[in-house]
Amino acid sequence: MYTIEEVSEIIRADQEIIVDPGVVIKDLIYDSRKILQANNSLFFAFKGIRDGHLFIKDAYAKGIKNFVISNQHLNILTYPDANFLIVSDVLLAIQDLAAYHRKTFKHTVTGITGSNGKTVVKEWLGQLLSDKFNVYQSPKSYNSQLGVALSLWNLSNEYDLALIEAGISQEGEMDALEKMIRPEVGIFTSIGQAHASGFSSKERKIQEKMSLFAHSDKLIYPSENISSHFVPYNAVSFSWGLNKSDTLQVLEIDHSKIDKTLLRFRYEENVYQLLIPFADRASVENCLTCVSTLLSFGYSFEQIQSKIITLKPVEMRLQLKQGKNNTSIIDDSYSNDLASLQIGLEFLNQQQQHAKKTLILSEMEGLKDSQKMQDKLLKLLHQQNLSMLIFVGDRQLINPESLSYSFLQYNDTKSLVADLPKLAFANESILIKGSRQFHLEDLSKHLVAKSHETKLEINLKALEHNLQVYRKLLPKDVKLMAMVKAFSYGSGGVEVANTLQFNHVDYLTVAFADEGVELRTAGIKTPIMVMSPDESTFETLLTYELEPEIYSFSILESFIDFLVAKGRKAFPIHIKVDTGMHRLGFLAEEVKPLLVLLKKSKEIRVKSVFSHLAAAGEDSERIFSKMQIESLTTFANTLEKALGYSLLKHIANTAAIVKWPEANLDMVRLGIGMYGIDTTHSNLGLEQVNTLKTTVTQLKELDESETVGYDRRGKLFRPSRIATVKIGYADGYDRRFGNGVGKMKIAGQEVSTIGNICMDMTMLDVTDIQVSEGDEVLVYPDISKAASSIGTIPYELLVTISSRVKRIYYYE
Ligand SMILES: *Cc1c(COP(=O)(O)O)cnc(C)c1O
Repeated sequence: MYTIEEVSEIIRADQEIIVDPGVVIKDLIYDSRKILQANNSLFFAFKGIRDGHLFIKDAYAKGIKNFVISNQHLNILTYPDANFLIVSDVLLAIQDLAAYHRKTFKHTVTGITGSNGKTVVKEWLGQLLSDKFNVYQSPKSYNSQLGVALSLWNLSNEYDLALIEAGISQEGEMDALEKMIRPEVGIFTSIGQAHASGFSSKERKIQEKMSLFAHSDKLIYPSENISSHFVPYNAVSFSWGLNKSDTLQVLEIDHSKIDKTLLRFRYEENVYQLLIPFADRASVENCLTCVSTLLSFGYSFEQIQSKIITLKPVEMRLQLKQGKNNTSIIDDSYSNDLASLQIGLEFLNQQQQHAKKTLILSEMEGLKDSQKMQDKLLKLLHQQNLSMLIFVGDRQLINPESLSYSFLQYNDTKSLVADLPKLAFANESILIKGSRQFHLEDLSKHLVAKSHETKLEINLKALEHNLQVYRKLLPKDVKLMAMVKAFSYGSGGVEVANTLQFNHVDYLTVAFADEGVELRTAGIKTPIMVMSPDESTFETLLTYELEPEIYSFSILESFIDFLVAKGRKAFPIHIKVDTGMHRLGFLAEEVKPLLVLLKKSKEIRVKSVFSHLAAAGEDSERIFSKMQIESLTTFANTLEKALGYSLLKHIANTAAIVKWPEANLDMVRLGIGMYGIDTTHSNLGLEQVNTLKTTVTQLKELDESETVGYDRRGKLFRPSRIATVKIGYADGYDRRFGNGVGKMKIAGQEVSTIGNICMDMTMLDVTDIQVSEGDEVLVYPDISKAASSIGTIPYELLVTISSRVKRIYYYE
């Protein structure tokens, strides 16, 4: 790798302060929380949503001695033994470094882009080409401006083929990716039909994506929607599609089998048949991209057929599941390489349900033949703070002596499964990381608790994304309180809180003390406010450091009495002011007696003064909202002046963050928006966090004279096919959704309920669609629409999903 002096030259640093010129850089770091190994690491201080320069202190404390920064004013004298490279653009610097490193790679780099299917095609090609090549592929979906740089950094000449994914969301972004990747071979997977927001037209979108291949020698692409004039002139094109002029012409697609597709096509004047193990359109297209790539790499049809039939769907998500005996299972049993192992380990560290952490790891592709990879793996394992490592594969590959935790080894998954009763996993987090041929999914089946088939999937990455969306709307000095009341709006307490804590929210808020206790017990350290404290929970508040909302004299007086009895001083409290909601809180005229009492009570310390907007989202109530903001400010200023110390003032909920910048004050309270619902309809690009899913349990063909369900309310008017799904009002599926009001989706097709909703089941009219038993059913295709169809709001639908519905967390 490179010395710090070489790096300085490569990135053309404007200024350098090098105290240790010999240091060799091996790892690139951009997040001080993700430091695994500080020696030989170079920290890049990006000016992202949170300024990386603020974390230099933390990184330095963790042993980092090399930094790339853009802030000239940083007081580097505080870090006398560290190297600093100063540049004008830190992102550009890491990209230059990656581009330089990529040029040292002597073999073919294949670049993959497109609207859909990039990651799947990359993963599949990685498998398909692994017999002839030692393939390097970018980890997971590391395809962004930073992700591509990090992907390229790990490339080395031990590999002889690289598959690098590139993703963009706006015009002008591909140029930087092209300069880094410089792919000799290009793969364009598909171009979406939908109008994409970051592009002025579809043509521009194609052109922009195509610019990745400006210097490529070869290009593989689908001719549908991409006319040949987009292909860069220097590239030999390999197109696939329905046209005669396509290199690979698809003649027939036979969908008669449920889970397979038979394709007939022409290639170089010959006609071939190919059976592929998928039936959905997207997978068939991705397969065709792979087939075209293999053909262009010189594979024969026989070779392709025997390989393609073994492909499995790519599971791109890290799933966090509830295991038996109070375990949390992070299941990543479909792919295994060093980079994705590292991502899995980061996720394991971020989850704090259990102090005990176990890693179950299989051998990875190429490990046997590469001493360098073995060394790297051992180094990575060495840095982990685990309780146990269980390795499935050749014992010779791991040297357990160097590990500080217990180690077990099994030759195969079967013998590990047989040993499960003896291992008796309990009260721990378990990361399962395995390559496909080891079938660790068999193990995961044994460990995960079985239950009711209806589940609520929670995408923690989407939650993180939404949090960033709102952060971007706020000035940097405004603090953020995240509302996790009511089981985080139905999404689950601890897992959500863990993610929020990891993302540095300033406060968490629950409704009741019990909810706070659950979070504290699970290791959450972020300050927690409790909105409805009760005298009976005062003891709990103290024990668990939960900060009460104080809304009346009676609760304030009894809390002070309690603190006096306990001998506690300066316990943090939050004062709630009623400025018009008329729910809880002190009224404006109570400010005088309140400040007298607060001033003389040394037992408490006021952390914040806040109120709640009654109609933040209503444009017709702007005058009222303005009045509320002013009343709170007046009230809070009066208290602040009397108490002589500063208090946080806050009033804004999600809708106000969008509609009322002047209501930001010192802190905002983010709720529903974080969970992916934009009640202001402002096109914020929020991602869906919660997906409620069930499955088709049974199908029936009924004559038109029949009826469906209780009281024979489901009348048929034609011969009908009826599907029963296992979700009812006991799961939180409201009875008002009965008799056609509720809409669900099966494989993208909308269907309506028929008859009354039962306690545990619902019947759907599926006469007009293709459906089989066991099919997955989306319960709320559009939760806002569903809510309004029964006269309620999405909040209610989310929080009423019953606790018996299993929550499954994943991190995409
Ligand atoms: C629930 C709640 C919020 C969050 O409201 P959203 O509309 O979900 O953003 C903010 N403040 C208080 C006091 C709340 O009870």
